[in-house]
Amino acid sequence: MSELLAKLQSQFPQLEFKEQYPLAQHTTVKIGGPAELYCETKNSQDFIALVSFMRKNNLPLTLLGWGANTLISDSGITGLVVRNTSQTITILDSEGHTTRTFNQQEQERIAARWQSDSQKGTFTYEFSDLDYDESEAERVLVELDSGVSLPYAINILIQQGITGLQWYSRIPATVGGAIYNNIHGGTHFISEVIKSIAVIDEQGKSRVLDKSELKAGYDVSRFHETDETIVSAVFSLYKGDTQKAAYVAREWAVRKAIQPQRSLGCVFQNISNEVKDKLGYPTTSVGYIVEHVLNKKGFQIGDAKISEKHGAFIENVGNATAKEYLEVIRTVISQTERKTGVKLKPEIFFLGFKKSELAGIV
Ligand SMILES: Cc1cc2nc3c(=O)[nH]c(=O)nc-3n(C[C@H](O)[C@H](O)[C@H](O)COP(=O)(O)OP(=O)(O)OC[C@H]3O[C@@H](n4cnc5c(N)ncnc54)[C@H](O)[C@@H]3O)c2cc1C
Repeated sequence: MSELLAKLQSQFPQLEFKEQYPLAQHTTVKIGGPAELYCETKNSQDFIALVSFMRKNNLPLTLLGWGANTLISDSGITGLVVRNTSQTITILDSEGHTTRTFNQQEQERIAARWQSDSQKGTFTYEFSDLDYDESEAERVLVELDSGVSLPYAINILIQQGITGLQWYSRIPATVGGAIYNNIHGGTHFISEVIKSIAVIDEQGKSRVLDKSELKAGYDVSRFHETDETIVSAVFSLYKGDTQKAAYVAREWAVRKAIQPQRSLGCVFQNISNEVKDKLGYPTTSVGYIVEHVLNKKGFQIGDAKISEKHGAFIENVGNATAKEYLEVIRTVISQTERKTGVKLKPEIFFLGFKKSELAGIV
C-alpha cells in the first residue's frame, strides 16, 4: 500500500480508494491509462472534506467529471483522481432557503433523456430557429452539485416547471465540467444563468464566487487559470414555458444525435469571425476547414479517426491510444497552419501528459 493511500484511508475510513484504477471507462472517448489512486464521493460533505485535505496538505489532486472533454495520457494520472458523483439538485426560494431537493444517486451513467428516436430534424448544426428569449419570465434559484449530470438536471427541472438549461440538451457533462469550460449551446453560454459558485481554493478553503468573478468567455472561465475546485453552483433559472423548453431540448437532441459519441466533442475552438472573413470562408467551424481545406475527413492514425460526419470531431473507432489521438490533432493543427496561417487552439483538456508530449498542440 502506498504512503498516500495509507494516509487517505486512515483520514477517510468511509471512502473507498482504488489503486491503479483504469480511467478510460470514465471518458466518452474511452482512452487513457490508470489513476494512481481513485475515489468517487457521493455527497458534497465527503467531496469538500477530501478536496480540502488534499489542498491543505499539498497533495496531487485531479478532478474528473463526465470525461467528455478530457484526453487522459496512456500512462495515466499521478496522485489522486476524484469524481464527485453527487446528484443533488435543490430548488430554493428567493431568500435562498431550500424548498425541494432531488437526489438520484448515480447508479450508472445517466443517458440523455431525449434520444434521437426518429429520423426527424434537419440534421444540421443550425439551432437558430429554436432560439427564443425567456428573460422576461419569473426567476427561480436552483442549486446544483458539481457532480450532477446535466441531462438529468435538464430533465428533472423541466418536470418541475423550471427552464433555462434546454440549450444544453444532449451535451455529456457534469455541472462542474460545464462551468469549468462555460459550455455553449447555439448562441447560449451556461454562464448566462449562473448566480454564484461554491469552490474550494488552492489552500483548501471554501469560498463562494459571484458570477462577476467567473471570467467566462467562449470555452473559458477563471478555472482554467486556478486550481480551484467547483463544489456546487446556484443558477438563476426561469419559471418559463416548459412545453416550449421540452420541445427545444428534444429537437436539439435530435440534431446533435449524429455527432460521434465515442469522441471528445469538437476538438478545436472555432476560428473568429474576423479570421473567417479574412479567409473568405462561409463559417467559423473548424469542421469546414478539415473537410474543405485540408480534405482530411476520415483521416486515421491507428484507431483515432477524424469523423466522417463532423470534421472537428476525432473518434476512437477501436482501441485508440492517447498517442494516436494526439498525432491526429497535431496533423490538423500543423496542416491548417501551413495552408491558412491560422494556429488552431484545442477546445479539449489534457490530463497526465508531459509538456514535451503536447508540443505543437498547446
Ligand atoms: C458528443 C459530444 C458533444 C458535445 N457537445 C458539446 C456542445 O454542444 N457544447 C459544448 O460546450 N461542449 C460540448 N461537448 C464537450 C463536453 O461535453 C463539455 O465540455 C462538458 O462541459 C465536459 O464536462 P465534463 O463533466 O465531461 O468535464 P471533464 O471532461 O470531466 O473535465 C473537463 C475539465 O474540467 C475539470 N473539472 C471537472 N469537474 C471539475 C470540478 N468539480 N471542479 C474543478 N474542475 C473540474 C477537469 O479537471 C477538466 O480539466 C461535447 C462532447 C461530446 C463527447
